[in-house]
Amino acid sequence: MEEIISAKGISKSYTHVPVLQNLNLTVLKGELIAIMGKSGSGKSTLLHIMGTLDHPDSGSLVLAGHNPFTMSLNQLAEFRNKEIGFVFQFHHLLPEFNLAENIQMPAFIAGWDKSKIASRSQELLTYFDLESVQTQKPSQLSGGEQQRAAICRALFNAPSIILADEPTGNLDQSNAEEFHRLIRKLSTDFNQTFVIVSHQLELADQCDKIYVLERGALHIKS
Ligand code: ADP
Ligand code: MG
Repeated sequence: MEEIISAKGISKSYTHVPVLQNLNLTVLKGELIAIMGKSGSGKSTLLHIMGTLDHPDSGSLVLAGHNPFTMSLNQLAEFRNKEIGFVFQFHHLLPEFNLAENIQMPAFIAGWDKSKIASRSQELLTYFDLESVQTQKPSQLSGGEQQRAAICRALFNAPSIILADEPTGNLDQSNAEEFHRLIRKLSTDFNQTFVIVSHQLELADQCDKIYVLERGALHIKS
């Protein structure tokens, strides 16, 4: 099985306070992983490091066969655009662009040609049932639609991994449950690899593995 994430001996402190301590994580292609843990336990710090948005103080990281920490800033930006999708608690859609333009943004940045962007866009809008609202601005969408659009954008360039930081933290219960089912379906339909940070226990049922981040390390939840 292909390893999409191999993090070994990751440590990170802020002002001498250790957050991550010799942490290890391996994620295989197609796995759906949940990371739980108390507020302040270091979940976002870990996700930022795995997403190459932050550096650990020590340890190694291999993402889709590459060591991101040896790349130049330009190489890293290109690598992230191609291989990593992000979903955050708040959708971070750009307010002045409509839904279709927002989800296409990673492909514009990657320099895809127009026809390829249009066909990928059509495919995803249909899959996510967002066709009828594709010309609406983010403020005209429901919370559930906004988060579906955010995941659609994360998926657009078919990245090796999608990292989601409390993606349902801002949704009501029924939208959160629908979102969890959607992630499970994406994982199955596209063999898409996910690492999701969540407080919500019912997400657990949908995941292949659940880890708890505690005292700087990951423990499998029994
Ligand atoms: P979680 O996402 O699990 O709530 P975080 O990773 O955001 O936890 O934070 C873990 C700890 O690291 C917290 O004590 C937080 O205050 C601290 N921390 C996070 N980011 C920074 C930063 N940029 N500067 C200083 N301290 C930080
Ligand atoms: Mg956090």
